[in-house]
Amino acid sequence: MAIKKKDIRALTKDQLRAFFEKEGDKAFRGNQVYEWLWSKGAHVFEDMTNLSKETRQMLEDNFVINHIQVDTMQRSNDGTVKNAVRLHDGLIVESVLIPTETRTTACVSSQVGCSLDCKFCATARLKRMRNLNPDEIYDQVLAIDKESKLYFNRPLSNIVFMGMGEPLMNYNNVIKAIDKITSPEGLGMSPKRIVVSTSGVPKIIKKMADDEVKFNLAVSLHSAIDEVRTTIMPFNETFPLKDLREALEYWYEKTQRKITYEYVVWDGINDSQKDIDALVRFCKYVPCKVNIIEYNPIDDGQFQQAKSAAIDDYIYHLERNRIVVNVRRSRGKDIDAACGQLANKS
Ligand code: SAH
Repeated sequence: MAIKKKDIRALTKDQLRAFFEKEGDKAFRGNQVYEWLWSKGAHVFEDMTNLSKETRQMLEDNFVINHIQVDTMQRSNDGTVKNAVRLHDGLIVESVLIPTETRTTACVSSQVGCSLDCKFCATARLKRMRNLNPDEIYDQVLAIDKESKLYFNRPLSNIVFMGMGEPLMNYNNVIKAIDKITSPEGLGMSPKRIVVSTSGVPKIIKKMADDEVKFNLAVSLHSAIDEVRTTIMPFNETFPLKDLREALEYWYEKTQRKITYEYVVWDGINDSQKDIDALVRFCKYVPCKVNIIEYNPIDDGQFQQAKSAAIDDYIYHLERNRIVVNVRRSRGKDIDAACGQLANKS
């Protein structure tokens, strides 16, 4: 009877060491295999050239490596690269490489589809199919690091969890992936270069503060008025702004790290003086900055980017209140790689 082989990447380094000891080999082999899997990104046992042929065969007999496969890669005329990534069970997620003069940023997915239901986001229409496991998240980063070296002659410098999915609804796996990304045995990247973006799950924001995570937090706010926010982000009914605010205050108290609010201004939805005043007030609770992001239309025309005068009003009032505000232009629109456009179209 064929036994179902285990995914070797589900094992910790200690478990790998123990496995080799049990096989009558040196525990140290566990470290070697771990390095192949995580620093060198080996996809087949064959490639682990510092192990003997017999050892490689023995691994082959016992395990599989459930790696991801970059299925299609699209390059935008602004240099942005979008990967459609095939998972071992055939599902697809997308991740994006965003180059600037000085940085290469990876925008990675945390779920197949999304748990939330933001009305303006293409991913929300896919519903949540499943959470990504830690190595599926890690692999997206590794794939982009390789592409960055190939196309831009430099390693990846930053990571944002702004692809498909709500990272805080898959918190444990996201944390495990970040641990690997930041560990010297993985990519050794500084957590200061990582941003986790959330629509705002208060309980998990507090947990992150308790866990003393070292990465940065961005919150997709889009409105500081409950009625408006609930219309565009219906889960706001369950996690209203009062709870979000309280969680963010807790976060700041514990971490002393500023929050970034992401904010899209839409015509007739959140472009009035009342909306601006509410945002200014909300920004005073916790040290923060605001990123105004350009709206990337998703087919139906229900949402339209606000007129530039409305955006200027936002900037004027935020700055007058000494709140740092940046306006961010979208990248990769021509290949549906911009924020909120990831929907496995192809
Ligand atoms: N679920 C997480 C991360 C994924 S979305 C979150 O909500 O933060 C990444 C960012 O893109 C969020 O700020 C989201 O609100 C924004 N976004 C979603 N759809 C968009 C669209 N059509 N145009 C511009 N930004 C969008």
